[in-house]
Amino acid sequence: MKRKLFFSLCLIFGALNIACGQVQSAWFSYKEVGPKVWQISDNGADNMYLIEGSDSSMLIDDGLGVADILSFARKLTSKPLVIVITHGHPDHAGSDYQFDKVYIQPADSMAARGYNKAEARSGSSSSMLGGRTPAAGDLYKGRILNTRLIPIHEGRIFDLGGRKIEVIETPGHTPGEICLLDISNKLLFTGDNNNGLVWLFLNNCLPLHQYLASLQKQLNRINEFTTILPGHGAPMPSDFINDQVACVKGILDGSLDRKPYQSFAGNAMVCTFGRASVAFNPDNL
Ligand SMILES: [Zn+2]
Repeated sequence: MKRKLFFSLCLIFGALNIACGQVQSAWFSYKEVGPKVWQISDNGADNMYLIEGSDSSMLIDDGLGVADILSFARKLTSKPLVIVITHGHPDHAGSDYQFDKVYIQPADSMAARGYNKAEARSGSSSSMLGGRTPAAGDLYKGRILNTRLIPIHEGRIFDLGGRKIEVIETPGHTPGEICLLDISNKLLFTGDNNNGLVWLFLNNCLPLHQYLASLQKQLNRINEFTTILPGHGAPMPSDFINDQVACVKGILDGSLDRKPYQSFAGNAMVCTFGRASVAFNPDNL
């Protein structure tokens, strides 16, 4: 009986926490950025998103993998969880090992598998976190699952119940990069395709003209979304894509000033147009 009372109190307290916006974690924080859409910060390194439908919820990207994202998501939603990864980089797919099933475009499956090895994860998180380390008690030590990576392609629709999410392939930043369109709420979740500064200089990035084709594909559908929810940084209005297209065109035709760009992942050149910057490899246009 006492045990029953204890669990009842826990449930009530948990519900109150969510109602008051006080879901606590030493590592993650969150804010509501749309109707039943939560942006989860991976301690500032990247954004994940949790979307709730009437039947199930979708976690878009699972972060660096240094903390227990599943338990955190469970504080926000009790619906069955579908995990979809925008691309195979370690700050977006690093927690795949915490789930038994993850959806990903197959061109990025190998990368995601590699980054989920413990040693790769610790290397990538130390670069991404700029010296910050997870609080001792929050470093995830859960069991490692033999995660199944389920392939998804252009046009796939996930029906969460009262809300449908469409897969749109946008290769460029990685070969298997996808965006996810919340059709009725006109929200586009964009991974690393539409950040304020997009990296196009990494080894597995496609040539810049192929990235431009993905941006133009988004532009053709711009009436279908009002807000871009990126993998890094704050939400942007949909017309941000116009600046990105102008930026990439300006790189390709040589009309924009090029400046050197340095990062932990390598050196490149960078150009800016309006709100958009693109760091690129001049030998991979
Ligand atoms: Zn990335």
